[in-house]
Amino acid sequence: MKNLSRVKAYQQKLYSALGIEWREDLFNDRWLTLYGQDWDKLAERGLIENDFCALCGNDELKSGYYRIPAFSYYKVRLPICDNCWEEKGYGEVAQAQENFNFGKSRWYKILPTYFQPDESVIQEVENFRSRFSLEHDFLAQMISMTPWSVKKLQWFMLKKIRTEQPTWPEKEIWKSVIISRMNVKLMTADFPPDIDSTPLSRAEINDIIKQATTIVKDFKSFVEVVNYLLEIDYKENRFYDPGRLLDDLNNILENISKAT
Ligand SMILES: [Zn+2]
Repeated sequence: MKNLSRVKAYQQKLYSALGIEWREDLFNDRWLTLYGQDWDKLAERGLIENDFCALCGNDELKSGYYRIPAFSYYKVRLPICDNCWEEKGYGEVAQAQENFNFGKSRWYKILPTYFQPDESVIQEVENFRSRFSLEHDFLAQMISMTPWSVKKLQWFMLKKIRTEQPTWPEKEIWKSVIISRMNVKLMTADFPPDIDSTPLSRAEINDIIKQATTIVKDFKSFVEVVNYLLEIDYKENRFYDPGRLLDDLNNILENISKAT
């Protein structure tokens, strides 16, 4: 059902989060062309809503059409209902072919954007979920524990820091990615370790932070940074997986990175 006041309130909320004054005449289809960076900011703060058409508030999203604002790193999805899609002539846009079903996979929606797998494997992950009758929340948690997600997160951090610090040299950014990973480890350094894992000690983590400049010195690409961090996780035995379930899931997820 069309609901203009809902979508107006939504626009007002987003504009005010961006510090832009909302006016009635801004209520048109051009609001979708806010900068990709702005949409990313809104996504980071969890303000994007996916349950209704971003133009008219209609919550019947039968074909699952959506638009992605240009230059949005997170590829923020703005749902468009069938009526608006046709009315605005978006049908000619390439995105029309991608038929994302918004109501479908809850596990996908709970994941932070940087852990959402490519659409080409969503169905396979969903099959995996139903084969083992996993709860959506549990599956989302599993995804975030895979080696695949560790890699995804590092690439995400690279882009994020690059955007925030456009003047930094590349190696300074790599260093910062390593340090932020170590800071995450520091947060749990004093907790009892997970079963069978052997986490780095506080001193070892601090050592890596201190040596970060030396560590990145010989790296030639960011892939080496990612592998370095992944190796630490493997050494810590973070991917403890007696049932091989995590391994299976990881393989499904990794297939996309090979395909793309
Ligand atoms: Zn609409």
